[in-house]
Amino acid sequence: MSSSNHRRLDNELASAAAAYQASTVIPHCPQCSNSCCRLDPLVLELNWKQVRTFWRIDEARAAFDRQLKAGQGPQEIRAGNGLYYAHGKPCPVFDEATASCSVYGQPIKPAGCSDFPVYEDGGTIVADLRCEAVDRTALSSWIAQAVGENYRIVSKADPDFPFLVTLSLKKAKPPA
Ligand code: SF4
Ligand code: SF4
Repeated sequence: MSSSNHRRLDNELASAAAAYQASTVIPHCPQCSNSCCRLDPLVLELNWKQVRTFWRIDEARAAFDRQLKAGQGPQEIRAGNGLYYAHGKPCPVFDEATASCSVYGQPIKPAGCSDFPVYEDGGTIVADLRCEAVDRTALSSWIAQAVGENYRIVSKADPDFPFLVTLSLKKAKPPA
């Protein structure tokens, strides 16, 4: 397949993933029984600007990092690879009363939040079944419909993290 065809297919998959999120996942979020924004069991990856904004930190990054290292920063944040990882406490910009994100639609919202739980990655669809709104079979049908009858969908769970499922495209056999 030519690289432009690959790109076209990747774009189709990304659009199909976004459409599935919009039609099926996002409408369920307000009544979700275990919101991903509570960061349990999910881990939120953040850059410094996001940490500073969400946790309303006034000090400089170096001072914050020192505090974190000394165990005096927010207990739910770990630093690594120039980034920060929050886990175990609700995201500070999650509004429990309305079960919604206060930075929804804003550039400060972490990319991982928009990707979760269904996103395109290198010509495949990755779905995280820890989101109760995702139905593996229905998602496969959705993607199959988006890419058309020339492809069949092969769905495979990660052996170590079985809640992570990859949907790959295989060329369908032409009718005999
Ligand atoms: S786990 Fe799924 S349904 Fe629940 S809040 Fe997160 S994206 Fe929405
Ligand atoms: S930034 Fe918004 S979507 Fe992301 S975890 Fe926090 S509240 Fe949820």
